[in-house]
Amino acid sequence: MSEQQTIQSELQAAIARIDSDSPRLDAEVLLAHSLNKPRSHLLAWPDKVIQPSALQQFKQLIQKRIDGQPVSYLTGTREFWSMNLTVTPDVLIPRPETELLVETALARLSDVDSQAADLGTGSGAIAIALAKERPNWQITATDQSQAALRIAAANAAQQNLGNIEFRHSDWLESLADKRFDLIISNPPYIAATDPHLDQGDVRFEPDQALASGVDGLDDIKKIIAQSPAHLKPNAWLMLEHGYNQSSAVQKLLEGTPQHNMENCQQYTCIESLADLSGQSRVTVAQLSSQP
Ligand code: GLN
Repeated sequence: MSEQQTIQSELQAAIARIDSDSPRLDAEVLLAHSLNKPRSHLLAWPDKVIQPSALQQFKQLIQKRIDGQPVSYLTGTREFWSMNLTVTPDVLIPRPETELLVETALARLSDVDSQAADLGTGSGAIAIALAKERPNWQITATDQSQAALRIAAANAAQQNLGNIEFRHSDWLESLADKRFDLIISNPPYIAATDPHLDQGDVRFEPDQALASGVDGLDDIKKIIAQSPAHLKPNAWLMLEHGYNQSSAVQKLLEGTPQHNMENCQQYTCIESLADLSGQSRVTVAQLSSQP
């Protein structure tokens, strides 16, 4: 008779086969998902024998992970701002560093009723975190992808949030003359030729959520150009960007001559902020009260 297939023995076998940055975590998350139990169950019951149907599911998931698929797409969920969000290959997997954008918005805007727009909402992570923290805000979440909007709306419903309106829009284009106190976005910002796009988990994520022209700045430029017409006086624009893009983004906001973008002189108080690992990942600006 073959050896019993316990939690511990199957985890060890899987960990040895996974070639990622976090083989133990990946294997534990996938086994907990197959058993429909929290990860703590694995630590509490290492000698428990895994039932055949759960074992078969786990082995299939491990094979997909070995083939490169991201853990979050295999489980269909990802934690963001202490919420479990549904994710599919139609949306970018929310990153922990994006919580800096949410924190910044909560810190910089007062608690009064406000109108906010989350552009390129994807799974809805930013909009949903803000809607949850500020029930008195009205949030408009846009995306160019109808499939992403369906996921985001389902995530908002899951959190019982009624203060988010979802709109199909290319950045601000379909929002007519609506004006906001805050425009926030984690747009695509990776250079289209960046070799990282062909490596690891991002290979499975939607290209339109990641890549943005030769220098990664195409979409950020559009947002910076479109936003003044949609911001109230003194309102905020807050953008996530690559760790090495803060000076380029600041220059775009300042409207430097080489970019020659008309509306940009109107931004003031331009500032970049660092994430927990010290990387400058967010740039904020306010629209001046006198255009
Ligand atoms: N931060 C993501 C990455 O480096 C990119 C997300 C984005 O383009 N908005 O994979």
